[in-house]
Formats: sequence, C-alpha cells, structure tokens
Amino acid sequence: MFKSMRQFFHSIEEHLFKKEWIGSPDYEALRFTLIYIFVGLIWIIWSDDLLVILVQDIDLILQFQTLKGWFYVFMSGLLFSVILKRRIRMIRSLSDNILYQNTHDTLTELPNRAKSSEIINNRIKQNPQSVFALVSLDLDDFSNVNELLGYHIGDELIISLTHNLSQKLSTDDFISRNGDGFILILDLTNRNRTQLNQYLNMILDIVNRERVIENQTVFITCSLGVSLYPKDGSDFNELFKAADTAMRHLKGLRKNSYNFYTEDYHKERVNRVKMINELRKAIESNELYMLYQPIYDMEGMRVHSFEALIRWKSPTFGQVSPNVFISYAENTNLISLIDEYVFVTCMKLRRKWHDLGDHSTILSINLSSKGLVDPGFMHTIERLCLEHFYIPNGIQIEITETALISNFDLAKSHLLRLKRLGFIIALDDFGAGYSSLTYLHQLPIDCMKIDRSFSLNPGVNNNQDLILQAIINLAQKLHLKVVAEGIETNIQKDFFLEMDCSLGQGYLFAYPEAENLATQRVEELLEKAKL
Ligand code: C2E
Ligand code: MG
Ligand code: MG
Repeated sequence: MFKSMRQFFHSIEEHLFKKEWIGSPDYEALRFTLIYIFVGLIWIIWSDDLLVILVQDIDLILQFQTLKGWFYVFMSGLLFSVILKRRIRMIRSLSDNILYQNTHDTLTELPNRAKSSEIINNRIKQNPQSVFALVSLDLDDFSNVNELLGYHIGDELIISLTHNLSQKLSTDDFISRNGDGFILILDLTNRNRTQLNQYLNMILDIVNRERVIENQTVFITCSLGVSLYPKDGSDFNELFKAADTAMRHLKGLRKNSYNFYTEDYHKERVNRVKMINELRKAIESNELYMLYQPIYDMEGMRVHSFEALIRWKSPTFGQVSPNVFISYAENTNLISLIDEYVFVTCMKLRRKWHDLGDHSTILSINLSSKGLVDPGFMHTIERLCLEHFYIPNGIQIEITETALISNFDLAKSHLLRLKRLGFIIALDDFGAGYSSLTYLHQLPIDCMKIDRSFSLNPGVNNNQDLILQAIINLAQKLHLKVVAEGIETNIQKDFFLEMDCSLGQGYLFAYPEAENLATQRVEELLEKAKL
C-alpha cells in the first residue's frame, strides 16, 4: 500500500515538474509542504465522517472535535521530528564523508597534506615550545614502477609502505600522504640529533626493502628532506617548503639518502627564480648561441659529424652551463622556445653546408626530454622542416633515457614520426641512467652514444669494461652506430678502438667551436674529397 502510494506520488511529481528541478532544495520543501497539506485535508474530511460513524452522542462529538485537533498537532509534530532527525543524520553523514574525503587519501586512508597542515598548525598553536622534524619523503623514480610494472603494483607498493612506516612511528609522531610520497612529523622531545639520524636511516632501510607484489619483485628507494621546528619555519607551509627544498636538492645529487634544510638552499632557490627570469629575457635578446663539437672517426682521424651544443652568456650570471639552464627551462614553458631556437639554427646551418656541396656530414641536435613527449613540439618540427627546406638524413636527434621513461609509448610514437621525417635518432648518455637494454630493439634508434662515465677509468674496473664490451657488441648486433663520449686522452681513444668502437667525441680531438670554424672544417673535408 505504502509502496503504491509512493509510486503514485512519484508519477504525479514526474508529470508536474521538470526533471532537473526534481531533487532541488525548493522542490524538496514544496514536496514536503504539499504532503503535509494533503494529509491534513484527508484528516479533516475523513476524521469527521469517522467520528459520526463511531460516536452517536452530539456532546461527545463536540468534545472529540477539540481532541481531534490536538491529536493532529501531536501526530504531525511527531512525524516532523522523525523526518527531521532522519534528514539531519543523512546530511551530517554526507558532510562527514565529504570532509573525510577532502582531508584523507583514498588509497591509504592517511591524512592528506591539507589535513596535516591543519594538525601541525594546531599543534604549534597549542604548544609553541614543542620541537619536531618535518620529513618530506619522496620515492625515487616512482613513475618507473607505475610505467613499467603497472599502476596497480604502484598502488600496492604505496599501501605496503604505509603499513611498514606507520608501524615504526611513536605516539607523538604522525604520517600523512603527499602526492607520490609521504610527510612525517617526528617528535623531538625525547630524540637528540643522533637518534633522529638513526631514525632517518631506519626509514631508508624500511623503504629500500625487497617487496614481492603480485609475483613481481619490486625495489624502491626514497629521498628524505628534513626541516626542524622552530629553526626552519614557524608554520606548516614554511616547514614543508624547507623540507621539500632539501629533498629536491638531494635528488640532484644522490638517491636513497636524507638531507637537512640549510639557509643556503633558500638563497639557491631565489637564485633559480632570478635565473629563470633572466633566461626568459635571454631568448629575446639573443644571449643564446650554438657551438659545434666534431665527432671523429678515430681510425682515419677524420671528422664524421658534429654535435650542436647550446651556450648562454648572461650579463648577470656570466657563462651558464646548459646542464643548469636546460633543466630550469624544462620546468617552465621556456624549453619549447629553446628547442625551437636550436632546431632553426641547426637546420639553417645544415642547409648552408648542403649548399656548399656537403651531403654527408651529420649535424646532431640534442632534443630536451620535455620536447620529445610534447605533441605540440612535434608539430613545430614538422612545420620547421617545411619552412627551412630540411635536408633528410643530414640531421640527427639525440634523446636521453629520461624522455623515454617519462612516457615510453608517446616517446616511441614521436620517434617513429621523426624517423619518418628522415631524421637520424641517437640515444645519448647511454649507461648514465636507467640503461635498459630491453627497449633498444623496440625503438627506431640508429646510434648509441656511450656516456662519459665509461671513458673515465678505462681498464681499471674489469666488470665495467666487460659491461661496456657487451653494450658495444649488442649495439653492433642491432646495427647501431656507437659513439664514445668524453675522450680526453690517447689511452681512452685506444681503449675504445680496441673495443671496436671507432667513433669518438672529446677534448682530445676538439672542443665545441663556433659556427664559422665548424663550417671551415666542412669546407676542408670537401676539399680533401676533391683530391
Ligand atoms: P651531452 O649531450 O651529453 O653533450 C656532451 C657534453 O660533454 C657537452 O657538454 C660537451 O661540451 C661535453 N664534452 C665533450 N667532450 C668532452 C670531454 O672530453 N670531457 C668532458 N669532461 N666533457 C666533454 P655541454 O655542452 O656543457 O652540455 C651538457 C649537456 O647539456 C649536454 O650533454 C646536453 O644534455 C645538454 N645540452 C647541451 N646543448 C643542448 C641543446 O642544445 N639542447 C638541449 N636540449 N640540451 C643541450
Ligand atoms: Mg648530446
Ligand atoms: Mg651525451
């Protein structure tokens, strides 16, 4: 009966009201009032009839009339209270739910950064004399786990880490989730600096443990940035910023380690912001220029190709290394402007050599990691090829493993696009980073440049030499050209020649040089060829 009444009301509602209005607060209030009026009317009409049937005495009926009114007021009050209670409970549980979701991480159920900020700021307010360390824990190369093993393994790893780390916290400590990492608050009332260091080492060990997740063995390390209250900040934001700066600083140097914030980092940060602003202006005011370093065929001691290397001479900072400003530019949109400048300059130069009659000297360009995975920049390259009457097979693009790891599928599809345009593809600094041999055959690579670290101590470390020989053999089996980077001595040159690697780049042969000198070398090559 109740069910059919409900259905009856629903069908009336659907006919009377627009769909989008149903469920709105105005609609709910109107619905409630209409039901109240409807029930009231029914009561007024039926209760009189019922009274006449049940009671025959007129005096008694008059007395009951008053009671009837009281009964209605009492019953409707009771009904209101039941309905209101249900509604308020529902709203409260909904708002509690929303509040929980806004302040907690759904995967681990740990408080998120916003919640930790609230907790820490309250703690400071209640007890300004307290002493504690804020640790920003960031997992090293966590994106590799997600990309290579799958996001579900990444999630399981985070859950396992949460469990292990939470177990090691004392009552006044606190853990929360922050992006792909964690924030830890370690109470220092009963811990001195040595004990804190021991604790941080223990965290590194916990994270560094071998884990088997869904039959896959997973290893991960982390970097810890540490700030201290009250020394490094007076509220959560300041402390977190300091710990994060210390962590980022550490990441550039080494992994699986911890680092305390110092005042110098603040200066460095300010300097970086200043440098990025200067770099923005540098692009417009032509402070960037290119140098070209010859790559030699070490057997015949003949120039085989050139690598284009960017330079920045800043009026404020002097000569800035590309290792520094390229990474700054990669964190801003400046990198696409720099990549475009490099491509335009090199395409023009290659065109110039072509017009001189040179059809074989390769000009190698470094493409930033961001540029390789930027679909917009792929369009830019295609446009530049048309605008600058690009010479196929004359330009090589050097990419690094960082670009591949950030988004393998996209990087692969862009490399295929570049290859179709006629560019030669080289893998730069091989051996310096992740160095996975598995993807080599999946990518359209023509050349492998072996990182300078392999040239540093030739013949000293037997294992390293064996690995190097295996890499060279494998590259040759895959029909890749191999270039040894950083050749500074004849010993290094002979070492690589013995390993059957005949292409070399380094200060032993030539430093990066200006465009006119590189062009002069190309002209000399042409002269020699004529003889
Ligand atoms: P890379 O692509 O591996 O370039 C080789 C680096 O080794 C160059 O440093 C070069 O000057 C240096 N080098 C060459 N021979 C020797 C040697 O015998 N000994 C030593 N110690 N070093 C040698 P540079 O020019 O400072 O460039 C550093 C890095 O900056 C480059 O490494 C590349 O990753 C990046 N870079 C340079 N130019 C560009 C560019 O135009 N675009 C992009 N995206 N990155 C660039
Ligand atoms: Mg390079
Ligand atoms: Mg290199």
